[in-house]
Amino acid sequence: MTFQDEVEWCLRLWNSLRIGGVWTLEGVGTYVRTDFKKMTLTEIHIDRAIPGEERSLFDHHDYLATLAREIGWEMEMKVERAYTFDGEFTVPEDRIGDVAICNKKCGAIARVEPITVEQTYYKLTDGECPVCGKKGFTKDWHDLHVVIDDRGAALKAQKEEEE
Ligand SMILES: [Zn+2]
Repeated sequence: MTFQDEVEWCLRLWNSLRIGGVWTLEGVGTYVRTDFKKMTLTEIHIDRAIPGEERSLFDHHDYLATLAREIGWEMEMKVERAYTFDGEFTVPEDRIGDVAICNKKCGAIARVEPITVEQTYYKLTDGECPVCGKKGFTKDWHDLHVVIDDRGAALKAQKEEEE
């Protein structure tokens, strides 16, 4: 399909949805028509993307956002839940912004962030640190889905290599 074809296809599809109507795009997520000319991404389906290529989710959504702009629609992101390989996850609203440092001193920082398509989320299964693999997070962090900042860990690894 050419870009023009896809624009027309999108326009037809979205126009055929009633407001409040739901459209699920395989491997990307679920969109809801929230207004006359507005689509809102409400769920992310990471589980249907090819493992290792999860980042293409953003490409897909970004592409759709471009299409939307092209046809004068608004594309909004209000993700409430995500489905990943290890099941559905949500991010507790009251924890957003919380930060913790791996107490095994590997340099990893975990942060609770709202769900968006740009980020990769790691589950702190039983408090296990995704960088060093040790139990580096306390009980209130167990099984939370977090964004990992591993710049500190990368610096440490680099320093160890130099020594
Ligand atoms: Zn660690």
